[in-house]
Amino acid sequence: MFAQNLTFPHFEEQIKKIDTVVIPTGSFEAHGRHCPLGTDIIIPERLCKDLDSAMGDQVLIAPSINYGYTPILNAFPGTIHLPAELLISIYSEVAKGFVSWGAKNIVFMNGHGGNIPMLTVACDRIAKAGASAMVISWWATFSKEILGICNSQGHAGEDETSVIMAIDATLVDRQSRSTHMKKAFSLPLATPDQVAERYPNAMNGDSLLATKEKGERLLAMMLEKNIEYINRLRRKDLLVPIEVG
Ligand SMILES: [Zn+2]
Repeated sequence: MFAQNLTFPHFEEQIKKIDTVVIPTGSFEAHGRHCPLGTDIIIPERLCKDLDSAMGDQVLIAPSINYGYTPILNAFPGTIHLPAELLISIYSEVAKGFVSWGAKNIVFMNGHGGNIPMLTVACDRIAKAGASAMVISWWATFSKEILGICNSQGHAGEDETSVIMAIDATLVDRQSRSTHMKKAFSLPLATPDQVAERYPNAMNGDSLLATKEKGERLLAMMLEKNIEYINRLRRKDLLVPIEVG
């Protein structure tokens, strides 16, 4: 159920029955020369739409927070960057607003990597306010499953471009797809020249391998996993075995 379509008496009635609010979060930023600036919110909104079709009487979809933390890619036209402190406040205050109306669980359906540290802080604040909170960042949370469908992952790379093609193929400028197979060490890292090194065309990965069919398989897999994760949050079934290796 989409919260923005409800009247306030209907909202009051539904929030008593629906214990879980899902908030889509993204970014408005360059995604290669081939994917739209809204890629990082278009994907979470589609995941939420699928979730609504599958379990709409059990989750309330909140309005999106579609600007994010993108200090690197704002070298490219159109990109809008919001400061970390502001985003922590927006994420936690919006979520705490829903908690004040009765939500017991908050799920951030996140489409943008730069938002993760701020969402993590927000989750701690939401827990202090008395509700449970979780961040699902699709490409990271389901990386293992994605690599069973795609050869590689990347910003506007094979996986992300495939999902956009499955949502609306007309949004992808196929002729402008490119490949950049280098990425930085996976640890917190910032250098003054990282845009040119890491994202020469505002992308990394191999978007030439993207297909609509892979995107459709990714969307189907992610719907199944989102339902599983959200139901586990609702049941407070959050422990998994420690994998040694
Ligand atoms: Zn993206």
